[in-house]
Amino acid sequence: MTDMGNSPASRDIAYVMHPYSNLEKHKETGPLILDHAEGVWVVDDNGKRYIEGMAGLWCASLGYGEQRLIDAATKQLKQLPYAHLFASRSHNPAIDLAEKLVAMSPGMAQVFFANSGSEATDTVVKTAWFYNNALGRPNKKKIIARTKGYHGVTVAAASMTGLPYNHIDFDLPIANIMHTSCPHHYRFGQPGEGEEEFASRMADDLEKMILEEGPDTVAAFIAEPVMGAGGVIVPPRTYFEKIQAVLNKYDVLLVADEVICGFGRTGKMFGCEQFGIKPDIMTVAKALSSAYLPISAMMVNQKVADVVAKNSGKIGTFGHGYTYSGHPVSAAVALETLKIYEERDILGHVNAVAPHLQDGLRKLTDHPLVGEVRGLGLIAAVELVANKETRENFDPKLAVAPTLVNKALEHGVILRAMMGDAIAFSPPLVITGDELDMMVDGFAKALDETL
Ligand code: PLP
Repeated sequence: MTDMGNSPASRDIAYVMHPYSNLEKHKETGPLILDHAEGVWVVDDNGKRYIEGMAGLWCASLGYGEQRLIDAATKQLKQLPYAHLFASRSHNPAIDLAEKLVAMSPGMAQVFFANSGSEATDTVVKTAWFYNNALGRPNKKKIIARTKGYHGVTVAAASMTGLPYNHIDFDLPIANIMHTSCPHHYRFGQPGEGEEEFASRMADDLEKMILEEGPDTVAAFIAEPVMGAGGVIVPPRTYFEKIQAVLNKYDVLLVADEVICGFGRTGKMFGCEQFGIKPDIMTVAKALSSAYLPISAMMVNQKVADVVAKNSGKIGTFGHGYTYSGHPVSAAVALETLKIYEERDILGHVNAVAPHLQDGLRKLTDHPLVGEVRGLGLIAAVELVANKETRENFDPKLAVAPTLVNKALEHGVILRAMMGDAIAFSPPLVITGDELDMMVDGFAKALDETL
């Protein structure tokens, strides 16, 4: 790369160790530096504007510059910028937010706060273990996740994540965490196998795994209602009801990872409601605060809450928690975010504008590079294929999806290339129909210019 002297780009290359980046290649390409943002638009340090088609990392649901969130943070920073929840201490932002989350949730009773999705899913693993120890079932500890599922990057969370880059050379997954089949009908359905038959086979695979491992050893099953980072994979019809029946049969906890789906992304408040999932435990993050500040939560139903509380009484404490669990400023911003979702009928808006994304992308189905268009609400993916007939993927060395994403950038649209050449779309939920049309149009142009 050309000498950039003491520019922000050269200092970035020198000092910033980037997450999820090819750190070697980064030295040549340098960073895309964003400077400011408004609504669904972000602006780089050269003044170029982009539609943030991924809402950052599936998170900035209310877009940028939302004054009510800025005011909520400022007010709380002045009133009480920090307080913790350890040893029975509390504060109103955490109390109000927990109450609100329980009221909104499908059947949850209590809320444990953390700061990131990874911390929330890690907390799930520890809670499931604590729960089964409390019930006198010390062997019931295995966690079943899914190939292509994404649950974060801390040690247990990355172990549950079912994507190769999260395991390679990190010596993961850890023991007791395993992966069952990915319910992607387009990719893994057999010739002539209908969606419902495929769903039955997926549930059979899960049951086989539970029986092989021994039902007495399986604590929990974790799933995103719609898989996000694995490539926006919408479950086949009847999948979750069949999975749920298997889990009930063997007394295995069902954990819904709502970190992406939660708060309207799919067109319902939670992905669980979209698919009739009745979880024992849920995780939320990202859109919980519209990403203005970090906050996440694990929610548990009454059954789990009671067992955990009783055991903490026996031991003397529930020995888990983060310095910033329920951080008052994050909690105040999250509470305001949830109020805005309701007051502005975010669900009504998502469902009204979603056809601009879903139908707009489906119009590209006949394009020679497009294998499958999938999604619902304001989450979608276009999977690219080298051969439409055989559904063969491109050689990863060709980097077709990253190339397309770079071309989309030139057209002023930020998208994300996922494993398996899927291009993901997850714009702020406040995006308008016109902005969605512009986003799809920019993508279509980039598609035409690829290969
Ligand atoms: N769970 C899901 C479904 C996610 O999509 C993510 C992040 O993308 C996580 C957990 C981890 O969240 P975080 O990156 O905040 O740790």
